[in-house]
Amino acid sequence: MMGEEGRKILEFMLSNNDLIIEETAGKDLNIKSNTVRKILQKLSDEAVVIPVKVKDKDKVLHGWILNRDALANFIITRLRKSRDKLSARIRELEENTFFTCPTCHRRFRYEEALANDFHCPNDNTLLIEVNRDYELNFLREKLKSLDRLLEYIYSDGF
Ligand SMILES: [Zn+2]
Repeated sequence: MMGEEGRKILEFMLSNNDLIIEETAGKDLNIKSNTVRKILQKLSDEAVVIPVKVKDKDKVLHGWILNRDALANFIITRLRKSRDKLSARIRELEENTFFTCPTCHRRFRYEEALANDFHCPNDNTLLIEVNRDYELNFLREKLKSLDRLLEYIYSDGF
């Protein structure tokens, strides 16, 4: 959701006593400061970070403290969602036959392919059946590694 920059920010906090200073984070991490602010705001919406004021001589800086429990929950929720999506895709693939167009790579369900006489409505190329086993193997491997990751988070915590 927050991409590479989000990961950088979280990693920085995890190795910096769970603290980040908004004013210096951009420089520390080599990320645009308004990108930093936006990401911290999003994380704050999820309660993953909590704002604190940090005194630096006569200046007051905007700091953020990492809430590790909320981070764990946040990650678990995302992983579970990906897991659900993935298993839905696997089920769909198991229960249906798909066709694909070798020219434009669009994908069609059997009924759709049949309705178009097994030719792509875009470019009239003859459709070919998707290699289900290959794709299923790939998706099942992904599902397994997600499960392993979830298991690890549950057992080890943060
Ligand atoms: Zn096509």
